[in-house]
Amino acid sequence: MGITRCCDQSGQAERPVHSLCTARANNGDMAQPTQIVWFKRDLRVFDHKPLAAALARGPTLALCIIEPELWRQPDRSGRHWRFWRDAVADLDEALRQLGGRLTVRIGETLPVLTRLQREHGPLALWAHEETGTLWTDRRDIAVRRWCRDQGIALTEFRQFGVFRPLKHRNNWASRWRQQMRQPLATLPATHSWTVADSTPGWEHWQPSISGERVGGPESTMQLSGRAQAESDLTSFLTERGRSYSTELSSPVSAESACSRISAHLSVGTISIREAAKATWLQQDKLQRKESWPRSLKAFEGRLHWHCHFVQKFESEPRIEFENLSRAMDGMRETEFDDDLYQAWAAGQTGYPFVDACMRYLRDTGWINFRMRAMLMSFAAYQLWLHWRQPALHLARCFLDYEPGIHYSQVQMQSGTTGINATRIYNPLKQSRDQDPDGDFIRRWVPELAGVTGDWIHEPWRMTKTQLDQAGVHIGRDYPRPVVDHQKTAAAARKRLAGFRSSSAARQESFRIMEKHGSRRRRSQRTSLGG
Ligand SMILES: Cc1cc2nc3c(=O)[nH]c(=O)nc-3n(C[C@H](O)[C@H](O)[C@H](O)COP(=O)(O)OP(=O)(O)OC[C@H]3O[C@@H](n4cnc5c(N)ncnc54)[C@H](O)[C@@H]3O)c2cc1C
Repeated sequence: MGITRCCDQSGQAERPVHSLCTARANNGDMAQPTQIVWFKRDLRVFDHKPLAAALARGPTLALCIIEPELWRQPDRSGRHWRFWRDAVADLDEALRQLGGRLTVRIGETLPVLTRLQREHGPLALWAHEETGTLWTDRRDIAVRRWCRDQGIALTEFRQFGVFRPLKHRNNWASRWRQQMRQPLATLPATHSWTVADSTPGWEHWQPSISGERVGGPESTMQLSGRAQAESDLTSFLTERGRSYSTELSSPVSAESACSRISAHLSVGTISIREAAKATWLQQDKLQRKESWPRSLKAFEGRLHWHCHFVQKFESEPRIEFENLSRAMDGMRETEFDDDLYQAWAAGQTGYPFVDACMRYLRDTGWINFRMRAMLMSFAAYQLWLHWRQPALHLARCFLDYEPGIHYSQVQMQSGTTGINATRIYNPLKQSRDQDPDGDFIRRWVPELAGVTGDWIHEPWRMTKTQLDQAGVHIGRDYPRPVVDHQKTAAAARKRLAGFRSSSAARQESFRIMEKHGSRRRRSQRTSLGG
């Protein structure tokens, strides 16, 4: 497919992509350009370098564009839209408190910018770099070209610890630390604003979603906005996170023991630098208190992984569509059992813990790392489904969908990276380890509410009398297991080993390791999970 990202070759992130220039206004006079800050997935005024830099130059117009075509992409869902829209409304409020306001326009980006140029004369454009999907990448390339053709200065700032372009990972970890240690961007003491009309009624606009609807009640989803982001981070660092390192693996404890900042990071209501700095501050304060040191260290590591995975995607964007290791091509492409996929996506596989996790995710928009990994591994190994459709389903379900982390993780859990150890999760072991009493299962798979004791993990083994007592008929009220998980896992392991043992696969692994591999010593590496 030949997908590469467009970036200049200077290696400088915080740079004008085209040199700053004063463009000629329509009337021929040299005029001061209107500074436009284009908000995308960085919906905040705190630690926002493009906003700070634009305001330092002159009257600034804060712009957000609702792009109908973006919302038609198969990885988008209604829950993403609502979470993003609420963050946009919240940003407007924050800007009003600063004396400005957000201009929200509906339309594709180039026509919107062209119209602003007509309305305001010369422009200068400021934004954060976005490591997005092929669709957003193409949009960004088109915007860069348009700016160059129009003589418009476009300045893009780095938002994560992700470096563009990057040939290898030498010193990446120390560059990440440097990036996080930089002072938070602050707005100039005085600033002036340019305001323009928003598209009337933009708050009520609805996307025409093309992917399958994931449903789920809105009331059980995480709330959006800056105050919620701050509150989630603070309550985690001061109370909820105490036992993070021991409680993150079970969906029962993880809901409150994990930080829950991922959705906020994905729309940018909080910056990763703010999260890293707040974590270091707490580390200094809580040096020897109970389990805090271990938990904060584990959390800091995950902030690092956030950027590690996005960096992988930045450098190899084709993994949205193609196997990271080309030696794995052909492994699953030719067979796709739609019935198995539908059963998995609906939480109807007959494996109670797998189904409980899928239904919990569908209703809440979130689940912890280990259960995400188990769901993906079950689809890829036990059901032998190519990762692309399951990846899209999960993307639509995750309120925190972040393409950079998502596609890297999906491929890792499907065995197509060529460099990670094969990990096939046993759904029954996970069930007994993470939900020993079965309460989580009974809550999310109410058909099994009457099943007692250890049978909850494998109800199909109960006798007819036991099932009658439990008030459930397997095969009618709740499905029989759609596959034999042990047999299919063994078959998957064999097929995978066959693909991995070829000399082409070894060469690919070497290439991938050189390009993306962590440069930490082997003994320090962890499984990049939880
Ligand atoms: C198949 C699969 C798909 C995933 N897709 C996404 C996704 O689309 N968006 C997303 O944010 N995360 C994704 N993750 C990673 C991880 O599961 C979530 O980041 C985490 O569960 C979010 O909850 P939290 O904010 O409470 O995390 P915490 O455990 O509190 O961690 C804090 C932050 O660290 C980062 N982080 C944590 N774990 C990981 C990890 N394993 N890899 C990379 N970064 C990590 C996230 O930014 C997270 O918000 C995926 C994992 C898997 C296995």
